[in-house]
Parts: sequence; C-alpha cells; structure tokens
Amino acid sequence: MRLKIVQAGEPVLRVQARRLSRKELLSSETRQLIDWMRETMRDAPGVGLAAPQVGLPLALAVIEDPPEVQRAIPPEKLAERGRRPVPFHVIANPTLRLEGEPVEFFEGCLSLAGLTALVPRSLRAHVECLDHNGNPLTIHAEGWYARILQHEIDHLNGAMYVDRMHTRSLMTIDHFTRLWSELPIAEVKKNLGI
Ligand code: ZN
Repeated sequence: MRLKIVQAGEPVLRVQARRLSRKELLSSETRQLIDWMRETMRDAPGVGLAAPQVGLPLALAVIEDPPEVQRAIPPEKLAERGRRPVPFHVIANPTLRLEGEPVEFFEGCLSLAGLTALVPRSLRAHVECLDHNGNPLTIHAEGWYARILQHEIDHLNGAMYVDRMHTRSLMTIDHFTRLWSELPIAEVKKNLGI
C-alpha cells in the first residue's frame, strides 16, 4: 500500500520521534509499516523515507539508493557526490556522529515537494541503530549515503533541510534543472549571492 507523504506544515514533521522497543520493532504492525514505507519510497521515487513523513512520530526510516536510479545520472555527477548504490535497509532508534568537512550539494525532500536547495552536510556519518530484526547495526557512510542518513535522521529529530540550507538557494526543481544543475557549485553560490 502506498502511504500519504505529509508536506511541510504538518506538526508531525517538527516533533522528536519516539524510540521503538525491540518488541515493537518486531511486531507485525511495524513489519507491515516497513513494507508500506518501502513501497511508498520506491513509488515516489525517493532514496529515503522517515516515519514522520507518513504521519507517524516513530524513530524509524527506510533507505535505498538502487543502481537502476543511478543509471539515469551521468557518471561524473555520481563520482562528484560520492554516490554509490545502497541496498534497501531499515534504521531504527539511530544515533549519529559526524565527521569530515561539510560538502555542499542540492538536495530535495519528499515532504517539500517540487523544491530543492543547497545544503551543507558532513562528508562522513557514523550511525548506531537497530536493523529491521532489532539487531544492533553500525554504519560507516561517506558521500551521498552519509547525506541520506543525515537527512533521514534529521526527520526523526523534527528537522528538515530548510533548517540547514543556504536560504538564498531555495528554488523549484524545475528551475534547478533548467538553470543551475550544470554549473559548478562555486559558480552557483556566486550567482545566488551566497
Ligand atoms: Zn526529507
């Protein structure tokens, strides 16, 4: 089943999500929710979806950056972003440790439909969480995967990319694609007055 993705302004996007007990994580209700979140993320399409985005204040997110999505992106853009395929997985009750200089790229969010902005994020992210079976999972991520993790974990803390973006860079995805996507980030920043 495809779930409704809530948009900016829904209070659930601004609250601290609740941690799940291991029993709750393994319940048939949560397993069903994870299946529906996976289906909803793939349908959108997106590379991550957090439970608050489907209206539930739970510390749970699904992530997947499949090769078939990446095939549509030029190899030099993938390399610049450090973007490599990430198989489907679940993160529950994550804690995040950041490392490395911030790197700046445009990112979007399924809860800010049609918009994109330039967002600084740490190059590396280290995450301690539970997987879909309630087992401890440690993730050491770099590049785009580190960005996805930071974006999704922000959602679980009631934050969105608009809290971190260069405010002058907010634009429609349509304008980004037509006017800005081919320019180096340094030039984009100069032209936007950042
Ligand atoms: Zn988002």
